[in-house]
Amino acid sequence: MEIPLGRKVLEANDKVAEILRGQFRERGLTVINMVSSPGAGKTSLLERLCERLAGRIPMAVIEGDLATDADARRLAPYGIPVHQIVTGTTCHLDAGMIQSALERLPLDGIRLLIIENVGNLVCPASYDLGEQYRVVVISVTEGEDKPLKYPPVFTAASAVVINKVDLLPYLKFDMPLLRDAVHRMNPGAVVLETSCSTPEGALPWTEWVAARIGAD
Ligand code: MG
Ligand code: ZN
Repeated sequence: MEIPLGRKVLEANDKVAEILRGQFRERGLTVINMVSSPGAGKTSLLERLCERLAGRIPMAVIEGDLATDADARRLAPYGIPVHQIVTGTTCHLDAGMIQSALERLPLDGIRLLIIENVGNLVCPASYDLGEQYRVVVISVTEGEDKPLKYPPVFTAASAVVINKVDLLPYLKFDMPLLRDAVHRMNPGAVVLETSCSTPEGALPWTEWVAARIGAD
């Protein structure tokens, strides 16, 4: 596991994140940082987003994983620039990793950059990547107590995507309780219910992203 985070590490991260935020703003680039536990469906949501937007909106993706470029390969069919960061033992992305990735991911003409963070609900909450929007994805199979157990990542979220809602008939899952927990923690967060098993199921997410970049 990780050594406890020093304030210096986070302060250094925040400085780089501010530089990135300035660069993103200058380019008119919208950046979304997707955070979730492993297996909540971030890559599936990205696949649905690519189906909807790739070819119409110039977009790029940065994938963060401990090992393998499997997620980057899943997005290859959509023909968009995808850069895989393999973090090894580090269970989050930091702003320095994004800065290095951008040296190899040309952003000219790109309007939307999605960063798929390493599957982890704990320390990604502490690392600002310079993004305008943080999206937390949870799946209904994880139970409705996630916001209560992992508050920091939810308090900084612009949107909370509740994924795999097609499985609700098979589960005891209290959606009103979850929505209430999110809103008590973060009244400004938008809650989106999705399923990636059909394009229609992912519409609340794809439309939310499209609206962020002024696309329809
Ligand atoms: Mg993934
Ligand atoms: Zn970590």
